[in-house]
Amino acid sequence: MARYTGPVCRLCRREGTKLFLKGDRCTSGKCALDRRSTAPGQHGAANKKMREYGIQMREKQKTRRYYGVLEKQFVNYYEEAARKEGMTGENLICLLERRFDNVVYRMGFASSHKEARQLVLHGHFTINGKKVNIPSLIIKAGDVIAVKESSRDSVKFKALAEAAASHNAPKWLEVKADAMTAKVLALPAREDVDFDFNEQLIVELYSK
Ligand code: SF4
Repeated sequence: MARYTGPVCRLCRREGTKLFLKGDRCTSGKCALDRRSTAPGQHGAANKKMREYGIQMREKQKTRRYYGVLEKQFVNYYEEAARKEGMTGENLICLLERRFDNVVYRMGFASSHKEARQLVLHGHFTINGKKVNIPSLIIKAGDVIAVKESSRDSVKFKALAEAAASHNAPKWLEVKADAMTAKVLALPAREDVDFDFNEQLIVELYSK
């Protein structure tokens, strides 16, 4: 499965915003964006004026990189969002929010999307009692996500559960950190996602 393996702090510097790709480091004084806010590359510090297309493209890249999704997958999500009833942009964000790796991240059992993806890939989680190792799986209302029985006693998961206990989970997820489970109470709505996306710009980009 293809994925981005380059330096992730460059992605934040490119988008000019924190994408929280490195877990605890992102909120520490070691964040690369806090130390150097210019875009990467030789001409990164130049004050370039972006045209409409550039602004739309950056918004799409920012959203895609935040969720750790490759271009082709992102286009598939967009097409699915466009087929659904309602606003395409809002549908897109809600679909991305429902990815299994994102739900693990929102549960507080991973400090970044990358870590969540890895935990899922390694088969540490179940959905409704069945082991699932597909980070892109879209969860449904009523699904119950849990740490796999055999992973629960590990030092790593005990520490993750401790971190999850003080994590602020979104209201559509009922997290029981000590039991290492979470129930999807409802599908996430656009207003439940507090990251600063301008999804309308993405719709404009793909509608050209
Ligand atoms: Fe982005 Fe985190 Fe790196 Fe800061 S530390 S630049 S938020 S990935």
